[in-house]
Amino acid sequence: MGLAEEQVCGRRCVWCAASLNNGTAIDLGAREVDTRGGGARWFPRACRPCAHKHFGDAHQAHRDNCTQCSTTLPWCTTGQRLFAAAMKADPKARR
Ligand SMILES: [Zn+2]
Ligand SMILES: [Zn+2]
Repeated sequence: MGLAEEQVCGRRCVWCAASLNNGTAIDLGAREVDTRGGGARWFPRACRPCAHKHFGDAHQAHRDNCTQCSTTLPWCTTGQRLFAAAMKADPKARR
């Protein structure tokens, strides 16, 4: 499954292809999540529900594999960053 040009350019969600505007898009520029993009230059963005789900999944997967995050607090910087990204994208969160 390839990505349409509109997804590569950030005009559509990379996961569900919903159209985005600057008020609803979550910038995935840090590329914390594997979005299967092969291009060297692209600007993945996602809608809030997709970003929340995928950052949440990534955070859970990280904690399962990270000795620091699975055993002690505070989490490592990667764990904290993934959690913060998931919270920021939470569609239920207040603006
Ligand atoms: Zn989406
Ligand atoms: Zn960690």
